[in-house]
Amino acid sequence: MRSFVTLVFSLIRLLLAAVKGALGPPTCAACDARVRDHVVFCPTCAATIEPPPDPEDASASDPRLEATVAFGAFGGALAIALRRLKYQDRPDLAAPLGHLARRAARVGGLVADLVVPVPLHPRRLVERGYNQAALIAAEVAVELDAPLLARALVRLRNTPQQAHLDREARRGNVARAFRARDPRAIAGRRVVLVDDVATTGATLAACADALLAAGAASVTAIVVARA
Ligand SMILES: [Zn+2]
Repeated sequence: MRSFVTLVFSLIRLLLAAVKGALGPPTCAACDARVRDHVVFCPTCAATIEPPPDPEDASASDPRLEATVAFGAFGGALAIALRRLKYQDRPDLAAPLGHLARRAARVGGLVADLVVPVPLHPRRLVERGYNQAALIAAEVAVELDAPLLARALVRLRNTPQQAHLDREARRGNVARAFRARDPRAIAGRRVVLVDDVATTGATLAACADALLAAGAASVTAIVVARA
């Protein structure tokens, strides 16, 4: 009952954020300065945005993924905006940041039969009230004109926050942490997997494992920022 009430409050909050985002003047995703329509960052913040690191770097390439497409490098205003989305109760920032993911999907020439977000563990979903990856995935699905299957993957374990762990610990932390809810919905599909940030790529690889085990034809990852 308590989690139901929490969920209702979360939905109301999301709705209010959406209304505020739609009615208020556009503001910078990192510092809230006024910006022109359809602009994500003010000029000062935009100057801190860097292209993503070379995909040939070992950390980004994984045999289970066709590619990991990113809009930019994790740093500067992009990192600030992503942290606000995730930890500071700013689901309204999913629209502008999703816009950047859409741009990366377009530039990267991505094709999808299905768009799937990296899931949160249900307990964390209740705490946060929204899955930031699913909100971004909704934008990517529109761009690719493909169905969004927001609950395609289940997070089996409430893994500790990745941010506190080194690379080896991260891989162990997320290995076998995901499972496909309904393999029939995934089998034979070219899946585009969406997350907000890729650091070591361990989470994306673990999700790709689960999707390929369910029979996905291929998995391509897209993130807003890559470390
Ligand atoms: Zn700014």
